[in-house]
Amino acid sequence: MNASSNVIDLRSDTVTRPTAAMRDAMMAADVGDDVFGDDPSVNALQEQIAGMLGFEAALFVPTGTQSNLCAILAHCQRGDEYIVGQQAHCYRWEGGGAAVFGSVQPQPLNHQPDGTLALEDIEAAIKPDDAHFARTRLLALENTLGGKLLPFAYVQKATELARRKGLARHLDGARLFNAATAQAAGTDADVRSEARRIAECFDSVSVCFSKGLGAPVGSALCGSSELIARAHRIRKMAGGGMRQAGVLAAAASHALAHHIDRLAQDHELARRLADGLAGIPQLRVEAPQTNLLFVDLEGEARHRSPELLAHLKQNGVLATGLYRLRFATHLDVDANGIDRAIGAIRSFFRA
Ligand SMILES: *Cc1c(COP(=O)(O)O)cnc(C)c1O
Repeated sequence: MNASSNVIDLRSDTVTRPTAAMRDAMMAADVGDDVFGDDPSVNALQEQIAGMLGFEAALFVPTGTQSNLCAILAHCQRGDEYIVGQQAHCYRWEGGGAAVFGSVQPQPLNHQPDGTLALEDIEAAIKPDDAHFARTRLLALENTLGGKLLPFAYVQKATELARRKGLARHLDGARLFNAATAQAAGTDADVRSEARRIAECFDSVSVCFSKGLGAPVGSALCGSSELIARAHRIRKMAGGGMRQAGVLAAAASHALAHHIDRLAQDHELARRLADGLAGIPQLRVEAPQTNLLFVDLEGEARHRSPELLAHLKQNGVLATGLYRLRFATHLDVDANGIDRAIGAIRSFFRA
C-alpha cells in the first residue's frame, strides 16, 4: 500500500506506484534521444526483453494498446484480417484501432469457457483466397485472458494450426509473466523459462511493464528484426517515438529484475480474497488462476453492484464492475488490505 493513502485499490494492477528502489533506478538511468536510437537504457531494455523471450528484437512503446497496434499493422496490410477472441483486448478494448488506423478487419470468435478459441472455429474462420473476402493473415491470442491461463498444450496446437495455414501469430502477453507464474506453479519449472516457452510459439509478443510488474509506464513488442523494423515505423506514425525514454525503460528493467518472482504472491492474495468471500450466498466467486478475481452477484443481489462498489468505496476499498465485479491484486496490496476488503464486502451483505 502506498504510504500516502489508506485506500485498498483493487481496480487494476496498473495502479501501483514505483517503489523507492525503482525510483532510484530511474534517477540513475543513462539517457539519450531514443528517436535517434541513442538512449542506452531503452536499448538495454529492448535487448533484455528480446533475449528473455527468445526473439531477435524488441521495441519499447508507451502502452500495450500501441504495442498491439504496431504488431497488427506490422503483420497485416489494408484489407487483411486478424482472427481474435470476442473478449481480446486488441479487439474489444482498443477502440477498434487496427480497423481505424490500419484498415485491418478483425474476425472475432467466441471464447470457450476456458478462454481458448476452438481450433475448429479458427480453421473455419480462415477465408479462402477469393475476391469476396478479406485476406486472413494473423491469429491473435491473449494470455492471460481475463486472468485465465491458456493451457500450454492449447497454445501449441493453435499456433501450430495457424503456422500450417500460413497465418502469422501474435500474443498479447500484457500479463505474460502472470501466465508463466501460473504455468510454473506446482512444477519444477522456472517462471522465466515458462514465459519463453509460451513466447516461442508466436511470431510477435507484447508484454506490459505497467501491470503486475509495477513499472509506471511502458510495454514492449518482441519479434524478428524485420517485423520490429516495420513496427518501429508504425510507432513513429502513431506518435510513440519518445525521446529520453530511458528513465521509463530503467523502471521496466528494474521490474524485470526484481518483480517477476513476486507475482506468485499476488496470485496467493487473489486466492485469499476468493477464500474470504466463500459462503456468501449472493456471490458467485470464480476460482482465480492468477491476480484477477471475478465475482458475480446472484439472484436478488444481481443489480446491486453499483451499490456494493459505493459501499466499498466508503470503506476505503476500490474495485471495478463494468461487466462483472473485478478485483486485481498487485504489488501495492498486502494480506491486511485483502482482509479489509473481505470485511467490507461481508459487511455489505450483513446490512
Ligand atoms: C492492459 C492491457 C493492454 C494494454 O493496455 P494499455 O493501457 O494500453 O497499456 C493490452 N492487453 C491486455 C490484455 C491488457 O490487459
